[in-house]
Amino acid sequence: MSSFLTSKLDHLVPYTPGEQPKDMKYIKLNTNESPFPTSETAQRLALEAASNLQLYSDPECRDLVNTAAEYFGVSTDQIIFTNGSDEVLNFAFMAFCENGAVFPDITYGFYSVFAKLNGVDFKEIPLKQDFSVDINDYMGVNKTVFLANPNAPTGIALGLDDIEKIVKSNPNNVVVIDEAYVDFGAESAISLINKYDNLLVTQTFSKSRSLAGGRLGFGIGSKALIRDLNTIKYSTNPYNVNSMTAAAGIGSLIDDEYIRANCEKIKENREYLVKELKKLDFTMTDSTANFIFAKHSSISGKDIYLRLKEKGVLVRYFDKERLKDYTRITIGSKEQLEVLIDKLKEIIKELL
Ligand SMILES: *Cc1c(COP(=O)(O)O)cnc(C)c1O
Repeated sequence: MSSFLTSKLDHLVPYTPGEQPKDMKYIKLNTNESPFPTSETAQRLALEAASNLQLYSDPECRDLVNTAAEYFGVSTDQIIFTNGSDEVLNFAFMAFCENGAVFPDITYGFYSVFAKLNGVDFKEIPLKQDFSVDINDYMGVNKTVFLANPNAPTGIALGLDDIEKIVKSNPNNVVVIDEAYVDFGAESAISLINKYDNLLVTQTFSKSRSLAGGRLGFGIGSKALIRDLNTIKYSTNPYNVNSMTAAAGIGSLIDDEYIRANCEKIKENREYLVKELKKLDFTMTDSTANFIFAKHSSISGKDIYLRLKEKGVLVRYFDKERLKDYTRITIGSKEQLEVLIDKLKEIIKELL
């Protein structure tokens, strides 16, 4: 730390992204990326946009907003695009958290970082023993609610009626539903935005849409909420979505059939992985995401992570008391998962 850093930030511990090591070619099952390539139309449109990079990107992302508004069945002033959904989440912490924020003790690690960055008071509400959310904990909390649905790293989703109860019981606070993984089997709350002006739904193109490197996310909510978020966007970086990424986003929405088919493959592979892991004495949460959260009957999460890494497979391990028995494994291609299972069999032989 330099002596120049503002004292407000000198205790900030940044978010730790999943590792992207370059020392060897790994099978990457640690950051919930898609194993499938970016859609062809997305690639083609991004390349076309690349020939015009002398110009600033459109700060309103008009073409993308028009395409997406039609796709999601909302009006163009109910949607804002950002540099990954991390950015719209950060904006929400900046904009809507005067009374503080609440989120589960086990959830996306960025929420507490954004809260600290923005000087927001926050309370972490413990998940139940089985890692599910008790919705009663979120009834009328009088603070801004952040819920990942499905949750990370557990993959467990709440149903739409439970989400609606939470939104309804907090009319004076924004409820942010982070749907980064919704395309893999949970129900989206976008259908509720015309009914509740305090609901903000965020999604990303990083997971189901194979565009993690493009950095594209968005928020959908009432016109007034979106206007507030735009005030912040235009006060920080109006050109937050670059031209190539905006074009790729349109391509991805055009190639929706390809994206849906990929999501179906992920769901099939998830079933395959669950079945194989059970045979190897793992138990896991009931995931509707593109990862599973699994624990072995006798080998620790850390040992599994370290040994898999030695064998060229990366998974995610969390050094936190309630999570240390677990590893989070991204649902890759069938071929990647077959290698994973083989390596796990070797590890079990070595250790037991
Ligand atoms: C991956 C992820 C995000 C953000 O991803 P971006 O790449 O910034 O769009 C947000 N929330 C959760 C729960 C995630 O797992």
